[in-house]
Amino acid sequence: MDCIFCKIAEGTIPSAKVYEDEYCLAFHDINPQTPVHVLVIPKAHIASADEVTGENSVYVTKIFEAIPAIAAKAGLTGGYRVISNCGEDACQTVKHLHFHLMGGKKLPEQMG
Ligand code: 5GP
Ligand code: ZN
Repeated sequence: MDCIFCKIAEGTIPSAKVYEDEYCLAFHDINPQTPVHVLVIPKAHIASADEVTGENSVYVTKIFEAIPAIAAKAGLTGGYRVISNCGEDACQTVKHLHFHLMGGKKLPEQMG
């Protein structure tokens, strides 16, 4: 399968790694939208939040269990936003589930 985040998870495409365990990998976004912008991905191919099931939801659970440590490692001491774009209307560009951890400054209240 031609999935860029599967390749990053396998290590065939390099990334600026923040955290890794058996279930997930966190790395800096190549095109950061905030001073700190980290992506957290499952190490299994799940296309989006819309594809989460009882079979694969352990990856989502493990990601959320790891997020506090990832945020601390990335220096997100003042708080952060967790975002997952899902599908066309949300402008999801990479079809492998990922959570954006964004912060490093006071973020605007409104998305636009
Ligand atoms: P989406 O728009 O699908 O929610 O977010 C995809 C994110 O992946 C974007 O913020 C984009 O900058 C990031 N991205 C795309 N390709 C790469 C890559 O090869 N390496 C890294 N580190 N980030 C990437
Ligand atoms: Zn994938």
